Amino acid sequence: MQDNWIRVAEARKAESAGRDCEVRGWVRTRRDSKGGFSFIEVNDGSCLGNIQVVAPGELDNYADEVQKLTAGCSVVVAGKLVESPAKGQATELQATSLRVLGWADPETYPLQKKRHSFEKLREWAHLRTRTNTLSAVMRTRNQISQSIHNFFHENGFFYTHTPIITASDCEGAGEMFRVTTLDLDMLAKSGGPVKFEYDFFEKPAYLTVSGQLNGETYATALGRIYTFGPTFRAENSNTSRHLAEFWMVEPEAAFFDLADDMRLAEDFLKRIFTDCLNHCDEDMQFFDQRIQPGVIDQIRSVVERPFAHMTYTEAIKILETCDARFDYPISWGTDLQAEHERYLTEVHVKGPVILTDYPSSIKPFYMRVSDDGKTVAAMDVLVPGVGEIIGGSQREERLDVLTSRMTEAGLNEEDYWWYIDLRRFGTVPHAGFGLGLERAVQYVTGMSNIRDVIPFPRTPGNADF
Ligand code: ATP
Ligand code: MN
Repeated sequence: MQDNWIRVAEARKAESAGRDCEVRGWVRTRRDSKGGFSFIEVNDGSCLGNIQVVAPGELDNYADEVQKLTAGCSVVVAGKLVESPAKGQATELQATSLRVLGWADPETYPLQKKRHSFEKLREWAHLRTRTNTLSAVMRTRNQISQSIHNFFHENGFFYTHTPIITASDCEGAGEMFRVTTLDLDMLAKSGGPVKFEYDFFEKPAYLTVSGQLNGETYATALGRIYTFGPTFRAENSNTSRHLAEFWMVEPEAAFFDLADDMRLAEDFLKRIFTDCLNHCDEDMQFFDQRIQPGVIDQIRSVVERPFAHMTYTEAIKILETCDARFDYPISWGTDLQAEHERYLTEVHVKGPVILTDYPSSIKPFYMRVSDDGKTVAAMDVLVPGVGEIIGGSQREERLDVLTSRMTEAGLNEEDYWWYIDLRRFGTVPHAGFGLGLERAVQYVTGMSNIRDVIPFPRTPGNADF
C-alpha cells in the first residue's frame, strides 16, 4: 500500500486539510468550470460522502482524459487536501495528477445521475452497491454484524459454527431445500423410486433452516454460545420480509429461563441499535432524510424505553376487540399474520413488543410446555414496520415431555437420538432465540423490502448473480 493513500472517509475530515495524499475511487460526477478547471466527485465506498477533486487545466491529461470522465470511471488522484469553501464538505482535493484506471462507457453504464427504483436496481445487483442507498445499507449491515459479535463476545458467548447441510428438519415442518448428488435426469428417465442409499450422504439431506438443535449441544457444554450463519427456507413466500437464503443469529444459553432469554434479546437489540446510532451517523442521517423520515428518533426512543410485554392470550383479546379490519380472521389458537403483528406494534403499543406464551399447537416440539399444559414458554419480539424480528423460547429439558411432544408432532425419536441425549445426560434448563439479520437491517435502515438489505437476494424464481 502506498504510504499516502487514504480513504475518502479520512480525506473528508477537517483535520486532514493540509495533507498530501492519494485517493482512489470511482467518479460520481464531473462538472467543468468556466475558469478552465473541473470538479470531480469521487467516492470509494468508505463513507456516504464523496471527496471533491479540483482538477486544474494544467494537468497533462486534462483535455484528453479529465474532461472525458463520466460516472463509474475509476481513478487515482494525487494532490493536496485543502479546506473547502463549498458547503457540506470540510475539505477538497487539489489534484496534481489524475490517473484513469478504467473507463465506464456512459452509453452502457447503467448508473447514470437519474434516480432508479429499487426494483430496477435489483437487476443490476452487481453494480447497485455503488449507489448512495445501497452502500449506506451495506455499511450499516456490516456495523450490525460487528455489533452482534462484540455483544456476544463481551457477554461470554462463544461463536459456534453449526453445519449448513443437515439430515434433520429443525422445525419438524420447515420447507427445506434438498441437497443431493443423485442424477436427476437419469431418475426422471428411469421413473424408478429414489434410492437414497446411493446419494452422497446415503440418506436424504437438506440445507439447514436453523442451527438451533446443534447449537443446543454446544450450549450444554460451553454454557453460552451463538451461531451466525446462512439459513435456507424453501417457503414460497413472495413478501417484503422473506428470503430463501438469509442470515440468522442464534444464541443459546444453559441455565437461562424465558425471562433471562427475553432480557438477553432486549439488551442485544438495544446494543445493535445504539452502535448504529453512534457509528453510522452519516448513513443514519441519510436513511432519516431519504428512506424513512423519523427513523433516527424511532430507534433512539426504542433504546431508551423498556420493551412492552404481552402474552399471546392478551394479544388475541386486543385483536378480537379492536376496530381494525383484518384479512385473516384471528382467534385463540391461530398464528398471527403480519397484519396482526403490525397492528400490535404500530397501533397498539407504538414500539417493540415481546409476545409470550403461545399455544403449544402452533409452536415447534422443542419449546418448553408450561404448567397450564396448553401454552409453551415461547417469546417473539415484534417491531413496527417489520413484524417478527426475533423468535425464541425456553427449551423443553424434561425427557418424557420432549419425547411425547415429538410423538405428537409425528417425529421419529431415532432421528433425534443425539438431541434427546442432552435430556438424558445432565439435562439443564436452557433457552435461546433466532434473529433474522436482514430484518434487523430493515428495521434500522427503514428499507421497506428485504431484497434491498442483502447483497444478492435469493427468492422464489430468482438466484441471479
Ligand atoms: P415468519 O413468521 O416471519 O415467517 P418464522 O416464525 O418462520 O418467521 P423463525 O423460524 O422463528 O421464523 O426464525 C427466526 C427469525 O428468523 C425470525 O424471527 C425472522 O427474523 C427470521 N426469518 C425467518 N424466516 C425468514 C425468511 N424467510 N427470510 C428472512 N428472515 C427470516
Ligand atoms: Mn418465529
